[in-house]
Amino acid sequence: MSQLRPHPVSIWPVWLVATACLMGGCSSWKHAETFEGWTLYRAPGVLLEVDDWQAAFEPALEVVEREFGPFQNAIRVHAWQGSVTLAENGRRVVHQDGEGVQDVPGIGPARVQGYHARGGVGPWSRSGVFLGMPDAGTAVHELIHARLAEEPERLPLWFEEGIATWFGDGALRNGTWTIDGFACWPWRELRSNPLTDEQLEALLGLSPLDDTSVRNNVLVHFIGWAVVFDLALETGSTDWRVWQARFDWSDVLADARQRLERTLRSSTPGHWMRRLKDTDPDVRFAVAKGTWKLQSLVIVEALVSALEVETEPEVQIALAVNLLAAANDLNLNGPTAWRVRTAARATLQAAEVPDPAEQEAIRVLFQGRVAGQGNNGDALEALRRFWAE
Ligand SMILES: [Zn+2]
Repeated sequence: MSQLRPHPVSIWPVWLVATACLMGGCSSWKHAETFEGWTLYRAPGVLLEVDDWQAAFEPALEVVEREFGPFQNAIRVHAWQGSVTLAENGRRVVHQDGEGVQDVPGIGPARVQGYHARGGVGPWSRSGVFLGMPDAGTAVHELIHARLAEEPERLPLWFEEGIATWFGDGALRNGTWTIDGFACWPWRELRSNPLTDEQLEALLGLSPLDDTSVRNNVLVHFIGWAVVFDLALETGSTDWRVWQARFDWSDVLADARQRLERTLRSSTPGHWMRRLKDTDPDVRFAVAKGTWKLQSLVIVEALVSALEVETEPEVQIALAVNLLAAANDLNLNGPTAWRVRTAARATLQAAEVPDPAEQEAIRVLFQGRVAGQGNNGDALEALRRFWAE
């Protein structure tokens, strides 16, 4: 599991004009299906499971329209298989089949699996949402860019990326996207590589039109998320206009720094884990997902305590999978390791899910991970809805 750290990082539309054409011609996207409010196109040669795309996209559209208001225009969704690689100047985007995990300097592997294009002038432009996999969280993120593009006002890059990342952190369960908002990867990365004021100021000043490195592109998402997370917590609101009104735009660096530091306090995830006691299983599921990345003993203890009393089967699986991954990364031993193994083993052994591929993956994980043998990469991939953020 320690290799499985890719994260859907979204790409700003800057690259778009060049991008859509790399698929083999700007007019070569094929119509796949029209739904209410959106149309699905596929890249040439790509066969789509239309049902999977509909299942991932419609809950995303529903949550974005609920929070941001209805779209003025129907949305074009372009689906391809794989991901995108960025050139170091951030300008070139190349579609790739397969995994397409890219090493971001100083950050580690990241997987770019979607972006939004505002389109431009002339035959090269094609606006809409571009997605490399039917993933609801990525769809939420990109739809927010698409929806904000309909607003008359242009938001600073970091703020828009923060909003999109905050809403795109959550979980899909039973056809509903539940927002969580605490993104584990940015939290850990920003803590392990603290930014100087100079670096922070440069990131806050970036515009979508700037040439920027892949690393800075990722970091803009991260700092934006950290500031927005604090604004959301402080205001108790999910309305980005309320966040915007609360932020001190007269001293962007000082206010961003203060909010960043609050989000990055060591106590933040522990406080957030109290939501594991929420009465809504969708909330508990969304909280559990991604926590393995925090690599913290406090979090492991919170997760195992939650698993020991959890009764909802899917939440149990999410807790068990994240616990096993976290325990593995932390090289746990002693009483906590014993508790983790006992609770996870009981969960995986009893787990029954309707999807045969997931059921098989749980079996493999039970035999391999619990017995301490074998490589479970494929099994974990099949279970990504339980752990991937
Ligand atoms: Zn984005």
